[in-house]
Amino acid sequence: MSVAEPITELATNNLEAFWMPFTANRQFKSQPRLLVGAEGMYYVSREGKRILDGIAGMWCVNAGHGRRKIVDAVRAQVEVMDYSPAFQMGHPGGFELAARLATLLPGDLDHVFFTNSGSESVDTALKIAIAYHRARGDGTRQRLIGRERGYHGVGFGGISVGGMVANRKSFGPLLNGVDHLRHTHNPEKNAFSRGQPAWGAHLADDLERMVALHDASTIAAVIVEPMAASTGVLVPPQGYLERLREICNRHGILLIFDEVITGFGRLGASFAAERFSIIPDILTCAKGLTNATVPMGGVAVRKHVYDAFMAAAGDDNAIELFHGYTYSAHPLACAAGLATLEVYEEDGLFARAADMAPVFEEAAHSLDDARHVIDVRNIGLTAAIELEPRPDKPTARAFDAFLRCYDKGLLLRCTGDTLAVAPPLIISQDEISRVFEIIGEVLHELN
Ligand code: PLP
Repeated sequence: MSVAEPITELATNNLEAFWMPFTANRQFKSQPRLLVGAEGMYYVSREGKRILDGIAGMWCVNAGHGRRKIVDAVRAQVEVMDYSPAFQMGHPGGFELAARLATLLPGDLDHVFFTNSGSESVDTALKIAIAYHRARGDGTRQRLIGRERGYHGVGFGGISVGGMVANRKSFGPLLNGVDHLRHTHNPEKNAFSRGQPAWGAHLADDLERMVALHDASTIAAVIVEPMAASTGVLVPPQGYLERLREICNRHGILLIFDEVITGFGRLGASFAAERFSIIPDILTCAKGLTNATVPMGGVAVRKHVYDAFMAAAGDDNAIELFHGYTYSAHPLACAAGLATLEVYEEDGLFARAADMAPVFEEAAHSLDDARHVIDVRNIGLTAAIELEPRPDKPTARAFDAFLRCYDKGLLLRCTGDTLAVAPPLIISQDEISRVFEIIGEVLHELN
């Protein structure tokens, strides 16, 4: 592997200064897991061990690590122009990337606003939704509807519409005027589903109840992950997303798909919107947009949304949307994004994910009868293995499993008592087998 030599000593032995995100800092610092190299399907740890990447970094390195084309594109861009201002100025890469993305996105999702992360994409999408109605003279539509167990990043907007309790409870009352649909996970009805579960489409009717409660004239948008990933892979029930779209249409509510994880091939199609043939009004993305080489997010909107802003602003010199980031369409991110989209296309990676999905499904469900397992669910190149929680110690068993998998050379994510698997789309059949073999061994050994 042409990765950097693993370092054996840290420049400093002091791990204290870095307050790590979403991490048990004290546990980590007593038993650090440091990665120093990455290529293809593997990381290299500080100890020089190869770690099979079962989660594409964090659901983001869809084309595999260290892709030469992307590395070269970023290097070439930084040599030519490091940064260009994002407001009232532009550079060619931003326009090229938006145009390329628009051709990849289904329907008339033709305009893209750039951000630097999924969280920023979500907050941007929520602001656009509220401002859209106001631009059309429908300014009473301000309520936002999210869903229980949803993850929409960590901005105040995102945690307000999100539904993961631990991410919300410490941060006060959050945004006003937010309500939540019920989540779709019901192990009694759906355990061990392969692909979309048959039960649960009727849960979309919660939106009708919210219309009845709040009146449609107060509701701006509903936001969902087409497949809820971070909460432990909740696959949409058959007919559920169709029903949400239909209810939104009926009541003039914007539908936002948060595709930060489902975008760029994860479900075996460019986007979940493409896979399920449902066009949301607004679609967020990030992660796989640049193969995670440089941070970047995007918010795509349909023509009618963009046109409403252009029409409402009047005078051509007027700014249509008072929103943006210093690093919106950063030149390095755009270079990475353009090269990434080329890699996806040249290697046919979205189709490859679709082709490998049945193999992946079989391998995941080989754990149906494994020790501690109470559910296995999957779609595309994504699977969840849900474990019976230890009595009085929820989440401990999955965290132990995560640590043991790492010791055996496999990187996963754990969330609650669920292990999530979502490898780079370049994974081979042998590597798929190895991922689930290691998990099987660990579950066998674990108490
Ligand atoms: N939305 C969804 C659906 C996500 O899965 C995530 C991250 O996992 C985010 C938003 C937040 O993205 P970021 O961590 O880049 O802010």
